[in-house]
Amino acid sequence: MNTGFWSFLEDVGNVLRDFKPADLLDIVVVAFLTYELIVLVRQTRAAQLVKGILILFVASFLSDLWAMRTLSYVLQKILQFGVLALVVVFQPEIRRALEQVGRTNIFAISIFKGKTPDEQLRERWKTAIATVCDAAEQMSDSRTGALIVFERRSNLSEIIKTGTVLNADINVEAIGTIFYEGTPLHDGAVVVRDARIKAAGCVLPLSANQDISKDMGTRHRAALGMSENSDALCVVVSEETGIISMAKNGVLIRRLDRQNLYNLLQMELIPDPPAEEERRTQRVLNRLRGKKAKEVSVDGDKKAE
Ligand code: ATP
Ligand code: MG
Repeated sequence: MNTGFWSFLEDVGNVLRDFKPADLLDIVVVAFLTYELIVLVRQTRAAQLVKGILILFVASFLSDLWAMRTLSYVLQKILQFGVLALVVVFQPEIRRALEQVGRTNIFAISIFKGKTPDEQLRERWKTAIATVCDAAEQMSDSRTGALIVFERRSNLSEIIKTGTVLNADINVEAIGTIFYEGTPLHDGAVVVRDARIKAAGCVLPLSANQDISKDMGTRHRAALGMSENSDALCVVVSEETGIISMAKNGVLIRRLDRQNLYNLLQMELIPDPPAEEERRTQRVLNRLRGKKAKEVSVDGDKKAE
């Protein structure tokens, strides 16, 4: 035991002696890539899949260990051919993930959040958010249906391809014109990328959530579906009721007024240094819990109306 301990210390000493700056860089790069991979997987439906694969690996390992030959053989074959099948079946997702890696701005990645150097983009977002809120309020008053998706880290190129690329500045008139009933692009969603209107008339994936109340149609389901499949934020203005809602991570926050919408978008799209961000989140949550408690619904609108 004692000898084992000393030889262990000796091994550690040897490793430390041979430790070069390149090793440190090696560890940092692998840790960083692992972190980014986990974040990427968590943002997509791949999370369930990864869980499934891990369970298969564990089952295969245990069946090997306990000499359950038939089960071990079957599991090994599934894993062998499964990898190939996964690449074929998930080809669009893999492509999207690689595109996203290519598009990722090293200074915008989550561990650097709050230190973003791009002040210009920050300013553009501030103006864009205020403009979208003005437009949402106007469309709510005039009962004009609207669906606006804000791209964040999940790359929405596949969604953009389903619509018409505009690359236009955000202003109230542009948004109003796009969603004005009868115009060619009023059906579908607007995608906002880097504080500009990237595309309109885009088709979003519908949510399969069974808990959504029946009075919600496809516009709200599309917003929820998009927020389940990515980290995008989706703002909906109901044509029927004028209610403004926001979908995030598969949760629909309903009956937002201009100020609440503005605060939520600011908080989500323009991250502040952590301390201030936390205070602001708390302020918004307090406001929503208090004054508008009955009107905010979460989790597939279970508590709505
Ligand atoms: P509203 O409260 O505005 O009536 P709703 O949730 O009841 O909204 P519908 O009445 O079904 O939804 O709205 C239909 C509109 O929603 C379509 O005309 C289209 O503009 C938009 N929409 C429907 N499905 C999608 C989709 N998959 N992607 C983007 N937009 C969609
Ligand atoms: Mg409807």
